[in-house]
Amino acid sequence: MMIVFLGPPGAGKGTQAELISKGKKIPHISSGNLLREAVEAGTETGKKARNYIEKGLLVPDQIVVDIIKDRILKNDCKVGFVLDGFPRTLSQAKVLDEMLRNLGNSLDMVFYFSVSKESVVQRLSGRLICGACGANYHKIYVPSSKEGLCDKCGGKLNQRADDKPETILERLRVYHEQTEGLIGYYKKSGILREISSDDRRIEMITKNISDTIENTLQKKSLIGRGVN
Ligand code: AMP
Repeated sequence: MMIVFLGPPGAGKGTQAELISKGKKIPHISSGNLLREAVEAGTETGKKARNYIEKGLLVPDQIVVDIIKDRILKNDCKVGFVLDGFPRTLSQAKVLDEMLRNLGNSLDMVFYFSVSKESVVQRLSGRLICGACGANYHKIYVPSSKEGLCDKCGGKLNQRADDKPETILERLRVYHEQTEGLIGYYKKSGILREISSDDRRIEMITKNISDTIENTLQKKSLIGRGVN
């Protein structure tokens, strides 16, 4: 099951990707997390990416594509994956299609998370991330049980440098300019599913996504067996 989560920053892609990854036992691949890890580790890639991330701009395609390719080629991705935050440009989408085609595969579904600008700003400005494991929290909507500490690994929770109000607006602008066009790209290929994520009840959205995955899988297996 190869799935992409598409949508503006703050739409809840990361939170849902984590839950779906656990439920379906497929890896969660977040391009943002991989880039932040590279920045933290001070690698060459991290050094190149840092400035773009802090300004709310997209990291150049080649850097992100290399990181994602390395990750998708690992053994645990043979069963599938949830890609969160990648692709973000048409050229990334085309590289992904080609890479999967070379592996004899293709994307099964792309979930487009539609959400209002107000929800995005509210979510991002209260968001906290575990510095150790990358888990997501929200000061009001998804608080950790011990303030400032991750429930999963005990790591320290931080606000992301790019979750400042002016950078949030810049990231939204970049999303409209460079990423939104992917909705049409995937609609054309018939694999787009829209999820309204304004609702704050996280488990309702997870159920909606999970049901859609099951229905699509069932349809595919019926078609595979020649039943219409
Ligand atoms: P995210 O955690 O998905 O919000 O990503 C944080 C930042 O990482 C973005 O604002 C970009 O600077 C960078 N980034 C993440 N994914 C990509 C991508 N697919 N293409 C370019 N830049 C990316």
